[in-house]
Amino acid sequence: MIVTAFSIKGYDKTFLEAATSKAHVKGIQWRWHEEPLRAETSRLASGSDAVCCFVNDSLDSSCIEALADLGVKLICLRCAGYNHVDLRASKKRNLLVVRVPKYSPHAVAEHTVGLMLMLNRHLHKAYNRIREGNFSLHGLMGFDLYKQTVGLIGTGQIGACVAKILLGFGCRVIAHDITENASLVDEGVTYTTLSGVLKQSKIISLHCPLSDATHHLINSASVSEMQNGVMLINTSRGALIDTKAIIDGLKQGTVGSLGLDVYEEEAGLFFEDKSSSIIQDDTFMRLLTFPNVVVTGHQAYFTREAMEAIASQTVRNLCNFLEQKPLEALVQIR
Ligand code: NAD
Repeated sequence: MIVTAFSIKGYDKTFLEAATSKAHVKGIQWRWHEEPLRAETSRLASGSDAVCCFVNDSLDSSCIEALADLGVKLICLRCAGYNHVDLRASKKRNLLVVRVPKYSPHAVAEHTVGLMLMLNRHLHKAYNRIREGNFSLHGLMGFDLYKQTVGLIGTGQIGACVAKILLGFGCRVIAHDITENASLVDEGVTYTTLSGVLKQSKIISLHCPLSDATHHLINSASVSEMQNGVMLINTSRGALIDTKAIIDGLKQGTVGSLGLDVYEEEAGLFFEDKSSSIIQDDTFMRLLTFPNVVVTGHQAYFTREAMEAIASQTVRNLCNFLEQKPLEALVQIR
């Protein structure tokens, strides 16, 4: 089976090759491409049975049509989210979609809490200050996380891990989800409405998937419900936040600090070295001018454990398809 992999970095290849040899599978022939998958690059999959893709590949209907015309049968995602795949188009052309539903929720949760600590204690400023010989504490005052109210939107695998870490800090954790997790309630999490989370929280962290229902969940109306000076963290998907609305909130001071690992226009920007380029996205560049904004480039998942788990589930998905076994991580298309 020929598998054409897109958006491949050296580290992806290393982990996928190791997982393939560990699985002792002979039938998988990899073709590696650094290019992202989109309609224009889909011809690289010519002669393949499967494509293997990542978060910023664009599997819209024209890309899916092109892949189906080339004879591709399987879309194997190296990620949990599938908001970037036109599932209706893939169903129409009988392309199966598999993903990695769970790799390391701890990786993303720990990074999320890292962003909270960094913003609260101004670690990004302190790092630079000390290197310049400036030992003044002015502007570095934070608050105790202990007893603060932190609101989570989405308490699936990652949200649940974040909740447990914060309960360990002694925070009051409140949450909103369309499905409540009873075991989290037993551990001390209180569920409330979306509005309840927006109004009561000193820190709000987003952990729901991107869908039509959650697109721009955080907009100017929701910002107006938040406490003055709220800290907002998004390690989920960029388009959960209307960036322009959040910039207005930052300018007015309603939003006290912002930690992002994802950005709605990150495709073509994140995962690449742009340090010698002129970045054309003025909205993104405006975000970087705020002293109370920290952005990381979609690295929350990036731990050794997560990379091993992603690679082994990806290879397992491909083996199951090859051996015509049930696809445990099939994305169900309604
Ligand atoms: P999950 O499916 O386990 O949990 C998602 C939760 O969101 C579920 O409990 C679901 O009921 C809830 N939800 C769905 N719609 C909602 C809504 N409208 N309002 C409130 N809650 C809603 O997913 P997960 O593994 O916890 O991952 C969460 C998200 O994190 C993923 O969708 C993905 O976008 C993102 N993610 C980011 C990275 C990264 O590196 N930054 C890595 C992995 C995943």
